[in-house]
Amino acid sequence: SFPMAAAAAAGSGGSDRGMLRSARVAVIGAGAAGLAAARELRREGHAAVVFERAGDVGGTWIYEEAREGGHSSMYASLRTNLPREVMGFLDFPFVATPGSSSVDARRFPRHEEVLRYIQEFARRFDLYGLVRFRTEVTAVVVTTSTRWLVRWRSTTSTSGEQEQEEEEEFDAVVVCNGHYTEPRVADIPGVDSWPGKQMHSHSYRVPEPFRDEVVVIIGAKNSGGDISREIAGVAKEVHMVNRASPASTCERLPGYHNLWLRSMVERAEPDGSVVFRDGSSVRAHVILHCTGYKYSFPFLLLQQQLQLLQVDDNRIHPLYKHVFVPQVAPNLAFIGLPFKVIPFPLVELQSCWVAAALSGRIRLPSEEEMMEEVGARYSELQAMGWPQRHTHCLKHNQFDYDDWLAEQCGHGGVEEWRKAMYDAASNKKVQCPETYREEWDDHHLLEQAYNDFQTYIN
Ligand code: FAD
Repeated sequence: SFPMAAAAAAGSGGSDRGMLRSARVAVIGAGAAGLAAARELRREGHAAVVFERAGDVGGTWIYEEAREGGHSSMYASLRTNLPREVMGFLDFPFVATPGSSSVDARRFPRHEEVLRYIQEFARRFDLYGLVRFRTEVTAVVVTTSTRWLVRWRSTTSTSGEQEQEEEEEFDAVVVCNGHYTEPRVADIPGVDSWPGKQMHSHSYRVPEPFRDEVVVIIGAKNSGGDISREIAGVAKEVHMVNRASPASTCERLPGYHNLWLRSMVERAEPDGSVVFRDGSSVRAHVILHCTGYKYSFPFLLLQQQLQLLQVDDNRIHPLYKHVFVPQVAPNLAFIGLPFKVIPFPLVELQSCWVAAALSGRIRLPSEEEMMEEVGARYSELQAMGWPQRHTHCLKHNQFDYDDWLAEQCGHGGVEEWRKAMYDAASNKKVQCPETYREEWDDHHLLEQAYNDFQTYIN
């Protein structure tokens, strides 16, 4: 067995606080997840050091011009796809009160408003002081003791000069590095000799470069849908491809003269054609992949760690409840991995759980029991006919998961109005993709939300 296991089982190695332990914890990333983790760790009596590569908190919500190796996937016009009342942390409502520093008071605000909110969260809970900015974690190494060696590179200037590598030991590591940065692209036969331009939504910023072009957009979910509509405003033609659509699909979307929904791309040809499953084709200038992202932990994939965990077809194995690696639990934890969820409340609850497991306030099951649970999850997925890459997709049961976490932690959990509002907004988005951000009919839920928020607003 891995040498760490026995040590981890014996505890985190930190000092005693009565029956509870307090650990020195390295948190990787200062986006919403890292900040939630830092807050909950401190509340539980741990000492957290947050490593952040960027110069501020906010993660993917810090808009940046597209560049090689950039972190953020935000494009200029992006507005949230969830109503703000649903999105916010449970005890820090995402509201635009009169006199606040809000930059977009709408229910589905632009990305700048989310960044403002996250930064306000960091100020309100005094988290800035815990973060080491412009500090990139390059390696996390499990030593033979109970300790984790964290190696990092800090840049003292924005141009990346004066880099220094340093390392430091911690009792535990909480990984919060986000998972919307490493593009996943569709495999298209013949694309290597296709002469057009390929890109991923990760680098999409503004529609102007697509003026008068013919664009094939692969993916019809959040990004694909929104970006297709935006590009249709300037492009000659936009063909949005939905992998799940029947082969015969070829329909012009209402309200557009140049936006088409198509079946999956079958192949690309050297003369510039892109051929769809129904045999029809278009000569396209650009294929824009809106096909999602891959989990990536470049700082973890050392030989030694491979015994601990692996990422295969977007399954991180083994992970107990998407958070702990059983063999070294609770000393290595991941926050914010599940997708098709409301991220902020989820990372808040996961963080409470991790903090309490590290202090010993909550006892985790044995390594064997956790592994059994991981296996049960895989069988369940298989029975539902889900592909492996959906292991961390919580589409149908995020609220069961949230409730389970809340129960573990003795936390109030996700409010019933929030669950109902999420469902209402999700349905509305499917029914009215053009207008769901401007029109809604969940007024009774809004009233309940704002009633609840009174507890937290001043
Ligand atoms: P991130 O915000 O990505 O933060 C990760 C942080 O880790 C970054 O600051 C990064 O610099 C840092 N980091 C990474 N590697 C290292 C390293 N080696 N060393 C040091 N630091 C490192 N969510 C919603 O609730 N509503 C929405 O409407 C919504 N829309 C979205 C639209 C897009 C296009 C995308 C991409 C995401 C959207 N999300 C939305 C989901 C969004 O990802 C979450 O809201 C949330 O920001 C995730 O936070 P995070 O902390 O997990 O990751």
